Amino acid sequence: MSFQHVAIIGLGLIGGSIGLAVREHLPGVTTTGYDLDPQVRARARERMLADAVCDDPAAAVAGADLVILCVPVGAMAAAADAIAPGLPPGAVISDVGSLKEAIGRTLAERLPNHAIIPAHPVAGTEHSGPDAGFATLFHQRWCIVTPPAGADPAQVAALVAFWESLGAMVETMDAEHHDRVLAVTSHIPHLIAYTIVGTASELESVTRSEVIKYSAGGFRDFTRIAASDPTMWRDVFLHNREAVLDMLDRFLTDLALMREAIRASDGETMFDVFSRTRAIRRSIVALGQDDPRPDFGRQPPPG
Ligand code: NAP
Repeated sequence: MSFQHVAIIGLGLIGGSIGLAVREHLPGVTTTGYDLDPQVRARARERMLADAVCDDPAAAVAGADLVILCVPVGAMAAAADAIAPGLPPGAVISDVGSLKEAIGRTLAERLPNHAIIPAHPVAGTEHSGPDAGFATLFHQRWCIVTPPAGADPAQVAALVAFWESLGAMVETMDAEHHDRVLAVTSHIPHLIAYTIVGTASELESVTRSEVIKYSAGGFRDFTRIAASDPTMWRDVFLHNREAVLDMLDRFLTDLALMREAIRASDGETMFDVFSRTRAIRRSIVALGQDDPRPDFGRQPPPG
């Protein structure tokens, strides 16, 4: 089984990238798209993010054998309700949301007669909207598929093959495990970045212009993450509360240990921790998940 008609609901960074990637990698597959925002639909037509961009959500899913919801986590229920009248009975419903347990539950409640197989491409940028997408976004990036118990293995295999066709590496796991893993690899790092950038901008003894001027000391790498879409990240913390709070408790314990090491001038503990973290960075580069060049290969800004 392979999908022949993919409907994409939400034509921003991820939805637009899926549309462009399907055109590039699966030229025989038809795509239709819909976005709630008429301006996004107009821009999506100009950029040809899908073969046809519809003005009505039910029309966008008519005839589709795979429907992918690419809307903010908090909009999944509304998007599911909007497409329900047009859904073909055998269509597989998937999504790309950054957390999986809550979305899987919501979609199963809203579309009880359909096969729901959630997924999360762990790929993105700090940009959003219909101009942000590009066809290679998923190349060499992981996509985590979280089939519910009892999912049809042929449909799961078809979804895995679909993501692999777009250049992704695919892993399957249960939704609860996904949410715990992503809490530590994505959600807590974003929380830390949002917090440190906020803290720096409110310091009284260091001016804002100094923070910006000397940002290459480390701060600017946090600012890229802290520029991520506020809607998306508000929704992540609202819907993955338990896993985030659990990981946050662990992080705060470790932070308190570092604070104690600094207070006690315990250089050995610091050196130990920093050496272990350096090894993690090296494994990420070795697995091809980041640029090995110094400073991520950045060129000095022009001028
Ligand atoms: P985005 O660029 O803002 O695109 C989302 C689009 O969906 C927007 O155009 C939005 O319109 C539209 N929308 C909102 N409600 C809708 C509805 N009911 N029906 C149809 N369209 C609707 O966001 P994104 O970055 O692509 O994120 C989409 C999903 O991907 C989120 O669930 C996010 O968790 C997940 N994700 C994001 C990343 C990332 O790095 N950005 C990575 C992996 C997964 P408005 O702007 O008018 O609301």
